[in-house]
Amino acid sequence: MLSHMKPLDLSLRIPAEVPDTLPDKRFDSLLRIARCHFEVVDAVFLPEAVSGSWEPVLEGRVAPGLSDVFSLCRYLTPHDDVLVVPDTFADGRFHRQLHDTGNRPVRFLASCPVIAHAAEPVGFFCLLHDTPRDMTEEDQAFLRDLARLAAGIIERDGTQVRLEEDVDALREGERRMTLAIAGSGTGIWDRDIKAGEIYYSAGWKAILGYTDTEISNRIEDSYTRIHPDDLDYVRAAIRAHFEQQTASYEVEHRIRCKDGHYKWISSRGRVVSRDADGTPLRMIGTTTDVSAIRGLSERLQQTVDLLTNLTNEVPGLVFQYQRTPRGESFFSYASAGIQDMYELTPEQVVADDSAVNRLVHPDDLPGYLMSFDVSAESLAPWHFEYRVWLPRQGLRWRQGDARPVRLSDGSTLWHGFITDITERKRIEAELQEFATVDFLTQLPNRRHFMMQIEAELTKVQRALVRRSAVLMCDLDHFKLINDQWGHSVGDQALRHFAAILRDQLNAWDLAGRVGGEEFAVVLSGKDIGQAAAFAQLLQQRITGTPLLVGGQHIPLTVSVGVSVIMASDASADAALSRGDQALYRAKKNGRNRIECYEVV
Ligand code: GH3
Ligand code: MG
Ligand code: MG
Repeated sequence: MLSHMKPLDLSLRIPAEVPDTLPDKRFDSLLRIARCHFEVVDAVFLPEAVSGSWEPVLEGRVAPGLSDVFSLCRYLTPHDDVLVVPDTFADGRFHRQLHDTGNRPVRFLASCPVIAHAAEPVGFFCLLHDTPRDMTEEDQAFLRDLARLAAGIIERDGTQVRLEEDVDALREGERRMTLAIAGSGTGIWDRDIKAGEIYYSAGWKAILGYTDTEISNRIEDSYTRIHPDDLDYVRAAIRAHFEQQTASYEVEHRIRCKDGHYKWISSRGRVVSRDADGTPLRMIGTTTDVSAIRGLSERLQQTVDLLTNLTNEVPGLVFQYQRTPRGESFFSYASAGIQDMYELTPEQVVADDSAVNRLVHPDDLPGYLMSFDVSAESLAPWHFEYRVWLPRQGLRWRQGDARPVRLSDGSTLWHGFITDITERKRIEAELQEFATVDFLTQLPNRRHFMMQIEAELTKVQRALVRRSAVLMCDLDHFKLINDQWGHSVGDQALRHFAAILRDQLNAWDLAGRVGGEEFAVVLSGKDIGQAAAFAQLLQQRITGTPLLVGGQHIPLTVSVGVSVIMASDASADAALSRGDQALYRAKKNGRNRIECYEVV
């Protein structure tokens, strides 16, 4: 019936090599029973080859040489039923002789798939005989039973292997856990509350420096090791948990080690059984050595404290200021000095800096804001001196210095400080005055006056003013006043004259004490006639405001030389010199006079 079928090319299906491994003895009994029951030459278990390994089993022996048989069984045996070949010689599918393990030709072949775990066949249960024969339905059923038994062996072994693997994994997990617990400085305790006893793991004892046998199991003893200062809150935490006010017991406290010193530990536990009334019976938990971490956090705290103290004690405000690309600006940190510098609290500026901006003097605010723009743009250090108006302190000067950095989001962050420079500004102003103002008369001194008149000359040259007149004034016979009334009266006379002169000046006029009893005046915008009129009025006021000292009238007159500043003047000295020439004439012509230097 099958003779028309094409003969099989067995060579393609034969594994190259049969491995030389130990025989699988699990199927021995089954194979022996099969051989005896079916009275065949060979009963063989042919396991399905996995990744090239192929190892037929024959009652405790590896049976090489059966590769042809195996290939055929694999190919011909239906997945769910028995293959019976009564005579291989008469079957067209067998184009060459098969040989059994004794190298005899195989005439009869029966094979049943062994299906374990309800999946693909894991092998074939085979019967081989050297003479043709038939196989009854009953025998086929028996062969199926044997194959099922073989599958049972494989399944049982698989389960066994998995179980062993699971146990191994559990043991490994436990080993790792034990190592991890030991390595992390964690100990385990188990407390029998009723008995008043507590069991400690070796790791627990090791934390305190004890060996496994050195510590008692009495709970009262355990309390004696707790630091006296911590005992109350430890007891309170345990009580709260016993009374079910807390889900677990968690507390950090100091505990005395074997060598007497204290260690910080973290203890965590939970009641795992209670009686019907809720009375706790058993509690288990862990203890971790946290002294290292406590030490670290204490050192960290000390550093933070030091930094905070430093920034708070340094006079002025230490700050961290930030501007985002969206235009928000705020102080991400401000030391306590913000109270002194701005009369604000750090909280008032942490969200935005408007409270500070409101305090900056309106004249300085645009420059103040601009200085941050410039610093942010160029990442150049920020430096600015500005006035603030504070509710309590009033008008004060502040100086800010900071270094900017650009953050990844495009924000600019400055670290810097603000100091009080009010006193420095006051001294600077005083020095400025000292350098520019004549102490006796409070008029600009010669140096300062010369700078001002040079500036006036520039204005004339640039036609910023149409003209400018110059008056040189010299008190008459001043030497006599000194000689007759004394030097201090002479001083009073100088102050008296200066006051009258200042009184007569407009805000834009200039005047200065340019010599002992010599004064110079610049009348901006005035011509020579107007200047002469000014001089006349001055003489009249001196006459009309006599200087009285001790009821005595001090005679005081002034001679004036008048000239103008000319755009062609190389320096202001030229104009002053013309005024001097006119003054000289006034002296020569009898004093208390006004002479003009007419420019042609
Ligand atoms: P003339 O009318 O020609 O100007 O005569 P004069 O005496 O005013 O002129 P002179 O230049 O000879 O004298 C000026 C005097 O002014 C000499 C000096 O002692 C005096 N003098 C200069 N500076 C001061 C000062 O600061 N205080 C006082 N009290 N006298 C001063
Ligand atoms: Mg003089
Ligand atoms: Mg004089």
